[in-house]
Amino acid sequence: TMLRFGHMALPGPLKRFFCSIANATTVLLNPTERVITIKNATNEDKKMHFPLAWLRDNCPCPVCYSASSELRNLKMMDFCPRVNAVSVQMSEQSESMTVSWDDGHSSSYRLEWLRAVAFGADTAGRQRPPLTRNRPVLWCDASKATAPIWQPKKVRFEHIMKSDAELLLTLLELEERGLVLIEDCGVDSEVVKNICKRLSFPRTTHYGETFEMRAEAKPRNLGYTSDRLDFHTDLPYMHEQPGVQALLCQVQASGPGGDSLFADGFSAAEHIRRSRPDLFRLLTTVPVRFRDRGQLADRRFDLVATHATIELDCQPDGEWCYRRVHFSNQQRDLLQAWPLADVQLIYDALKAFNDVIEGRDISSDSSKVQLQVKLRSGEMALFDNSRLLHSRTGFSGERQLAGAYLLWDEVLSRRRTLESQLQIGRQD
Ligand SMILES: [Zn+2]
Repeated sequence: TMLRFGHMALPGPLKRFFCSIANATTVLLNPTERVITIKNATNEDKKMHFPLAWLRDNCPCPVCYSASSELRNLKMMDFCPRVNAVSVQMSEQSESMTVSWDDGHSSSYRLEWLRAVAFGADTAGRQRPPLTRNRPVLWCDASKATAPIWQPKKVRFEHIMKSDAELLLTLLELEERGLVLIEDCGVDSEVVKNICKRLSFPRTTHYGETFEMRAEAKPRNLGYTSDRLDFHTDLPYMHEQPGVQALLCQVQASGPGGDSLFADGFSAAEHIRRSRPDLFRLLTTVPVRFRDRGQLADRRFDLVATHATIELDCQPDGEWCYRRVHFSNQQRDLLQAWPLADVQLIYDALKAFNDVIEGRDISSDSSKVQLQVKLRSGEMALFDNSRLLHSRTGFSGERQLAGAYLLWDEVLSRRRTLESQLQIGRQD
């Protein structure tokens, strides 16, 4: 049954062209609101909306869309966002909807596809894609007084290297909790590179493809001493900052100390958001400038970047989650573009954030956001450098770590392709 809509003269400013399919599905073209709506008579709530500009933009024909590359062929220079529909035809037999456009083009859409990508009337519609990453699971629920006990997942090196399913579970855990411990890695620094290649690629920085950290007599960086460190994120002085870090313990201090400390920056941010919204606003908006310069091998470097301390991932419809935190007292530049009148409060905000991380905030409890692990030699921490702040306790004697960085984009790409390969999760 082919049904035409374009040629009925309807009165009023809102011309509606409609008809029924099998007495159940109705299609309306609303030229004023520039939207086509499909609704089911038996379920008023399940209206599907398709803006005209969006439909024309997403024409699936071979001229407009390249199926082989899964990319849009329609050029912006040939696309008119004010295009009008001349007619709409529904075909029950072919389960499709055909739109003729006033630019002379005609587009045919499968109903099955339309159902999958429809806009809902509100922001909860199906059209909304997921956030670019899975939602982080906070280490503590800021609304509760006591912290649930959370321990990082431990996986064996060999299992990650051999099993794609184990690798996927590890990446999902890293994405949701920000920390996974990998056991029985051995102490060869090549292991760090191998893990990176299994996950994606090692991200070369001024420290090289991988780096080693040991106590030094004349440290170039505070990481190379044996003192207790401030909690920090690595590489805050980069805009294209690697978000994942692999850190292998090669030699652990035999005496007390040398424990790794991890704190959930998102849980701390959530605590500030609830207890001090005024400071939270500063932490999410005021740019902080970071800088690191020096020389490594025969090459000088001077890296500068600015970030808000807490970055949010916000969608236009209001959905949001935490994206990244940037905090390194050592590498925060002395020069800042802060208005004179705000300087005091900005310092108050930075200190308040650190107090929550360190457990010095009287209204919070450090056990809520902080985790202490003494890595054994051959043990590796794989962690989210864009979320966790890390530190270590002081120690004496020999201690050596090898590390490498990876880009979240590459790691997330790996997670998505594994999901599709193993047919797990959202397929799109
Ligand atoms: Zn087309």
